[in-house]
Amino acid sequence: MINIDYKLLSKKYKNILVTGGLGFIGSAFILRILEKISINIFNIDKLDFKDNKFSFNNLFSKFHNRYKFFKINIHEKEKLRDVFKDIDPDIIFHFAAESHVDRSIDNPSVFIESNICGTFNLLEESLIHFKKLTLNRRKNFRFTHISTDEVYGSLNMEDDPFNENSKYSPRSPYSASKAASDHLVNSWFHTYGLPTLITNCSNNFGPRQFPDKLIPNIILNAIENKPIPIYGNGLNIRDWLYVEDHINALLLLTLKAEDGSQYCVGGNKEITNIKICNMICNLLDEIIPKDSSYKSQIIYVNDRPGHDFRYSIDTNLIS
Ligand code: NAD
Repeated sequence: MINIDYKLLSKKYKNILVTGGLGFIGSAFILRILEKISINIFNIDKLDFKDNKFSFNNLFSKFHNRYKFFKINIHEKEKLRDVFKDIDPDIIFHFAAESHVDRSIDNPSVFIESNICGTFNLLEESLIHFKKLTLNRRKNFRFTHISTDEVYGSLNMEDDPFNENSKYSPRSPYSASKAASDHLVNSWFHTYGLPTLITNCSNNFGPRQFPDKLIPNIILNAIENKPIPIYGNGLNIRDWLYVEDHINALLLLTLKAEDGSQYCVGGNKEITNIKICNMICNLLDEIIPKDSSYKSQIIYVNDRPGHDFRYSIDTNLIS
């Protein structure tokens, strides 16, 4: 059971800047803060192709006096500068990123723009802002960068799980762009003294995840009576982290982590893709039974190029 000291959080922070807050994890983070603490949230998102994102703004609407949305691409530096002046943030949580591995294979350039150049822009603006803060506010300020375990590459069955000292070895354009952004964040800490925190988490799941990710994709295809595609032989392994547990970790680290630190965040739940799929089908067979099992809809499709075999996280440092 994790106890978050919300009182202390509200004492330290009045204005929180979140990027990518219309995405799956960022929106869950915003909702938690708005529900638990009476502080202001400013959300920057480029609002892209996913129409249903608008519903996230509706989700926050009852907190309209403490929530403000800025439709900005973090690639647009001048606009970022205006927002920083406007909101005067006490802390930044940077979730914004192009996040889908398959799309990074088809169209890597937007991943470079958003994940690398966008992070660079935010770091530059954060540093300008940080330098203007009073000494007291500087003590609490932090640029928290939400990253992925995929920066560490792929494990075999016999390999030890990733930890904070694992070698970077990204293998997809997505993970390479996230790795580059991690290095930028670290360098802004060491070179310019910007207070930073990097978290590298495993696969998140939970409410309101977009349908292109594995778990919602399986559920939607199953109930819509469509084929359920599984890459390769389905034996690739992921560690699954419930999104609310991830948010607990972020809030805990906000209060406890040292500047310049980096933490791996995992769910200690390694499981093959086909097993996840079978578990979901079994559940649906119980909840919405039909003539044949949902498993009969599973089809194996050509594997993703460079598909990482296994991710696993050693959570000792954060535990
Ligand atoms: P998501 O795709 O659901 O949300 C990302 C949000 O960022 C979207 O709303 C998108 O519009 C916004 N965005 C992208 N590029 C932008 C830009 N240039 N300017 C402004 N906004 C932009 O992703 P998510 O699953 O919520 O992931 C959030 C963060 O967590 C990402 O940085 C991702 O790399 C990291 N992460 C996610 C997982 C996971 O399992 N979902 C695992 C590890 C790490």
